[in-house]
Amino acid sequence: EARRLNRRLVTFEAETYVDPSLNLALMTEMRRGLHAGEISLHYQPKLTLTDSAVHSVEALVRWRHPVRGPIAPDSFIGIAEETGAIRELTEWTLERALRDRAALKASGHDVVVSVNLSGRLLADRGFCDNVQAMMAGHDHGICLEITETAVIENPTAATASIAAFRAAGLKVSIDDYGVGLSSLSYLKMLDADELKIDKSLVAAVAQSQRDRLILKSTIDLAHSLGMSVVAEGVETADVQAALALLGCDAIQGYLISRPVPLADLTEFLTGWGETPRL
Ligand code: C2E
Ligand code: CA
Ligand code: CA
Ligand code: CA
Repeated sequence: EARRLNRRLVTFEAETYVDPSLNLALMTEMRRGLHAGEISLHYQPKLTLTDSAVHSVEALVRWRHPVRGPIAPDSFIGIAEETGAIRELTEWTLERALRDRAALKASGHDVVVSVNLSGRLLADRGFCDNVQAMMAGHDHGICLEITETAVIENPTAATASIAAFRAAGLKVSIDDYGVGLSSLSYLKMLDADELKIDKSLVAAVAQSQRDRLILKSTIDLAHSLGMSVVAEGVETADVQAALALLGCDAIQGYLISRPVPLADLTEFLTGWGETPRL
């Protein structure tokens, strides 16, 4: 059985993007993995700079295949989007995030849990209705991270879905800001709670005055529109210090913690709370 799975997965790697039947095979495999408990969530904290506390964590999907070992989300999320399996994966993720958030709260850590939402799902009415139904009876504390490109590709559907999610008590975050054709003017039409600056824009901030100026105007505009700003991919204390000077609200990255399983996150949050940080 292991050899058979392995042979199939080796072919996925080389031919995934040319043969649709192999995409479907990978999706069958992902659905099997979902039911077999091979897929799990890791969590990465977002550190608020003003009070040095963690008020929010991001859920990131992990697939540990019995033969292949870990498979990175970047190598199956795209295919899941193309085949439609993304809806099942995202509904599973939301349910798990709600459950884990309740467990964190029970151990004294009342944090918002952010879930990544593929742009394709914004145009899926059935999915959007389902999400609103899932949220009923929960005390919210769930944030949906939506990429800026998803919004740019289909502004009408995106703005309507975002409005519906927010009306249902969900928070909304614009993810990967600064990748591709970002435009400050897009921010105007987006009624979101949070803006996440992509790591490509964040990385150079400690060195370049130009990058600092671009970031500063982005942060100021986001603030004037009522959004808080999170910088992604923060790996050094220099970058953290530069971001703090620019008025960035929170940071996320290996400097604070890698994405970790729920048990490790709970331990991290407990340790963080006990250590004076200011
Ligand atoms: P993303 O939403 O932009 O997530 C941030 C990615 O940056 C994560 O990669 C995270 O592990 C990584 N990262 C965090 N801190 C650092 C850092 O300091 N330095 C560097 N170099 N990287 C850092 P990951 O977990 O491999 O996820 C990749 C992408 O896959 C995510 O990008 C997201 O677009 C997608 N993804 C992950 N989980 C899900 C999911 O449940 N649903 C959907 N639709 N997409 C997901
Ligand atoms: Ca994200
Ligand atoms: Ca991102
Ligand atoms: Ca990304």
